[in-house]
Amino acid sequence: MNKKLDLEKLNREFENKTPQEIIVWAVKEFSPEIATTSSFGTTSAVLLHMAAQAKPDIRVLFLETGFHFPETLKFRDELAARLKLNVVNLKSVLLREEFKSTYGNLYEKNPDKCCFLNKVEPLKIALTGLKAWITAVRRGQTENRKNVQFVEEYEDGLYKINPLATWTSGHMWDYLKTHNLPHHPLFEEGYTSIGCAPCTHAIRSGEDERAGRWSGSEKTECGIHTFMKKKQNSK
Ligand code: SF4
Repeated sequence: MNKKLDLEKLNREFENKTPQEIIVWAVKEFSPEIATTSSFGTTSAVLLHMAAQAKPDIRVLFLETGFHFPETLKFRDELAARLKLNVVNLKSVLLREEFKSTYGNLYEKNPDKCCFLNKVEPLKIALTGLKAWITAVRRGQTENRKNVQFVEEYEDGLYKINPLATWTSGHMWDYLKTHNLPHHPLFEEGYTSIGCAPCTHAIRSGEDERAGRWSGSEKTECGIHTFMKKKQNSK
């Protein structure tokens, strides 16, 4: 059972730690009530490799929205087999056919609701009872993410661990190369950040790595990193 954590002190200390050291700390502190999420996107193998080394049976939560590129599902299966991952596929409460007949192409009409039903709601259910959630969020990815801390506490008592907070895209690619890990096959076609197929486009030269997500709209986040309320003492 973990005691009350001094987040300010921890986050200061973690500025000088490697992501692997932060993950090892989190596994020791919160196991077995700990899980990680993965989109099985471009450089997802980095966090998955680190997490599986620290805790081989760690639950890897994957939001199986029903709208993924076939390449993503294939990449998930190949990476899971290679790293012996304990992948848990999370689906919306509504069955796929029921979802389609009720909402049609909801991603066109109301993408926030589509993300809520297919991502936020299933994740909320899966996080119930957990003490910690390890994510691959990095400060450099978007304006919204620039203040992300290594450890954050949320109002329902869940700690979010962001071991890669200070890593750049360059660090991610170096890690893949060093450990001979694969990247998502659509990267070569210009997809630098990969989510559901209807809401993901290839980017043009000079654009941010997440510019292809919901491009042409104001939406930049699916909601899984914004639905929880942070505790006051968590920046
Ligand atoms: S990313 Fe698009 S298709 Fe996927 S859940 Fe969100 S709105 Fe729906």
